[in-house]
Amino acid sequence: MPPAVHGPGQVPAPGQDPGFGPGRLRPLLPSPLEPLDDERFTRHGVQLLLKRDDLIHPDLPGNKWRKLAPNLTAAAGRTVLTFGGAYSNHLRATAAAGRLLGFPTIGVVRGDELAHRPLNPSLAQCAADGMRLYFVDRRAYRAKALPAGLDTTGMYVVPEGGSNTAAVHGCRTLGRELHGLADTVAVAVGTGGTLAGLAAGLTDGQRAVGIPVLRGGFLTADVASLQQAAFGARTGDWRLDDRFHFGGYARTAPELEAFAAGFEELHRIPVERVYVAKMLYGLARLAADGAFPPGTRVAAVITGRPATAPG
Ligand SMILES: *Cc1c(COP(=O)(O)O)cnc(C)c1O
Repeated sequence: MPPAVHGPGQVPAPGQDPGFGPGRLRPLLPSPLEPLDDERFTRHGVQLLLKRDDLIHPDLPGNKWRKLAPNLTAAAGRTVLTFGGAYSNHLRATAAAGRLLGFPTIGVVRGDELAHRPLNPSLAQCAADGMRLYFVDRRAYRAKALPAGLDTTGMYVVPEGGSNTAAVHGCRTLGRELHGLADTVAVAVGTGGTLAGLAAGLTDGQRAVGIPVLRGGFLTADVASLQQAAFGARTGDWRLDDRFHFGGYARTAPELEAFAAGFEELHRIPVERVYVAKMLYGLARLAADGAFPPGTRVAAVITGRPATAPG
């Protein structure tokens, strides 16, 4: 069953106590869809729209909300244990949810060397939100090993990046919110959970394009297997364009940085650099290459905000 969600300012109907449900956080759903006047697109007859998932919730923005919400409903107040890197948006969102909804959280962090250093701002925020942090070496992390000596009985375990079957189901709503409003939908891809759900939620004639932000070429198989697990088959019309990762996760280049800074300046919208910048850059290149027939409505999913942005 989908989680109960309530729009801004709405309150649950009497008798519908959302309990530990994430609906208590009053997400802005459906997220706004904003047309954007950008000459790099209009020149090719392409209408660019921004799907502002970054506005869903101040502490659980973007796809992190969509992926966590069904998991928090399933966890029903139990301790949530999950995994992430030192700058993981997913860890920060999980920690914030724990603080706001009042359930315990545990973060297993990649890199045992970090245990002996001051926390970076992202992990400091997790700790301030009450998350218990365990640092594990890279091999144990890859093996998805639970921290030795920690009794995890009764805990609700969410995988790295939050991408499990419940999360993929949660992201299907993103696709459904775009029925009739866009022809192509673009999203940045980390673990692939968001694309897997989005593509399944779209309707006939709509397609999704994923822009991987890491290198390796394994993500098509990952997205397909997430869909296999969630829906029993590869679902929807989607593909990846692997040309815009700029060498790997969190890697950048002067050209990408200039593009992102220019986009912020022109449109007054903060551009998150690890994911969103690469997706927008890729879209602009696709438009320039004539990949979209004139008249195409392209929705770019703004999956998050810069971590340093105020608020
Ligand atoms: C986590 C994240 C993604 C990647 O989502 P996946 O479901 O892991 O592919 C994209 N954009 C932002 C801003 C994120 O924080």
